[in-house]
Amino acid sequence: MRVYNTLTKKVEELKPREAGKVQMFVCGPTVYDLIHIGNARTFVFFDAFSKYLRSKGLAVEYLQNITDIDDKIITKAKTERKSAKDIAENYEKEFMADMNALGVTGVTRYARATDHIPQVIEQVKKLRDKGHAYQTKDGWYFDVKTFDGYGKLSGRTAEMAEDGVSRIDDGVGKRNKADFALWKHPNSALPPDSSGNANALMRMIDGEPAWYSEELGWGRPGWHVEDTAITEHYFGPQYDIHGGGQDLMFPHHEAEIAQQESASGKAPFVNYWVHVAFLINKGQKMAKSVGNFTTVRRLTEQYSKEIIRQYLFSADHRSPLEYSEEIMESFRFAQDNLKKTLRRMAVYSERGAFNVDAPGSSDRLSAISAEISAALEDNFNTASAIGLFNSMVALVNQLIDEKKFDAKAYDVFKSTLDSVNAVLGIIPEARPVDVPSDIADLMRRREEARAAVDWPGADAIRKELESRGYTIDDTPYGPILSEK
Ligand SMILES: [Zn+2]
Repeated sequence: MRVYNTLTKKVEELKPREAGKVQMFVCGPTVYDLIHIGNARTFVFFDAFSKYLRSKGLAVEYLQNITDIDDKIITKAKTERKSAKDIAENYEKEFMADMNALGVTGVTRYARATDHIPQVIEQVKKLRDKGHAYQTKDGWYFDVKTFDGYGKLSGRTAEMAEDGVSRIDDGVGKRNKADFALWKHPNSALPPDSSGNANALMRMIDGEPAWYSEELGWGRPGWHVEDTAITEHYFGPQYDIHGGGQDLMFPHHEAEIAQQESASGKAPFVNYWVHVAFLINKGQKMAKSVGNFTTVRRLTEQYSKEIIRQYLFSADHRSPLEYSEEIMESFRFAQDNLKKTLRRMAVYSERGAFNVDAPGSSDRLSAISAEISAALEDNFNTASAIGLFNSMVALVNQLIDEKKFDAKAYDVFKSTLDSVNAVLGIIPEARPVDVPSDIADLMRRREEARAAVDWPGADAIRKELESRGYTIDDTPYGPILSEK
């Protein structure tokens, strides 16, 4: 398959470092609040992407970090008079609940920053030993001037960091504006620990969690280094795919490259960088800081995961995606229609409606199925794949009406539907309605009335069924009951 690689700015053939195996890392959440649907777009995209690679027979190791130590967590803990650990644990739980509600099941391993402090310390020490890190009174910093490749991902240079919109570390005594923290000392320092238990000993220092390292002193990981410490631990210094939201490209991902390539001396750190664009709400990028966001929690209370996923896949992942209630409602409407088609097909199939001879019908469906595969192979174009799938559903409806939908066509449709759903997770469950016996009895009596050309009698029964919460569609293959 072909993917757009941010690093080379080209669509390239995806070639894993080791045949048959893909190592993919995606930046996870900072667990200090509920996530919004702009964040969810990234997680849902890579969930489907990993499932697609697996469906092609690749063994995918999908790793995601959980940033459970961060200034935002500490600030929230102080405001709410809780410990940073409590805040992080709580919102990690909420994050997992959201992922579950969205049907995100593709991640192989979640890795918390605080479970990898020894690995962080090791990496910072390595950077210090190689002359890439220096200490100020605030902590250890990476000197971007010591890494020639700084800016190769985002096209932004160290000087351009001046206009950095996102999370540039402030600090007194930094050599360059773009230098970033590797190890942050707590505000009030403690004397060196005398217990002899050097690494990974956590203490609370004035509300700030800190770990002790003999060489680095008390501190906590900078934001960028946790990712590379974690990926080096599980994948080694080089791996296949790094994903994340577009806004993480600079400075976060640029910093990751600088750290890992400097620490290992091996390049490229990652072969393919894949970035997912943001959501637009009321003309602006959806963001916590703008306040125009909708939480995943709120959306999953209103819409099924299939509706939300279909919406999130409705634009190419590199294009911004518009959000509004009206747009969500249109996806709800489309899902209701799809559900109706699927239910109709299940009933028709039961009633033997597809026992017809319709040469050529299955070929027409197979052709669309092949186009869907081609769309996914082409930079995982979900929007195009879903559009094609919808056209397939329309063709199915048409063929059924023309009595040209045979068992072979049904098989093609069913297997396409299953494979699309296994990857994208967009097909609603359409179980046939459970018909209570008294309702079945009414249905039978109505059919008898119709057969006897007793229209007033049949109408009266229809009204009764409606008053009990059902609607009836009369089709060429008999009536189909739905719940209102
Ligand atoms: Zn990250």
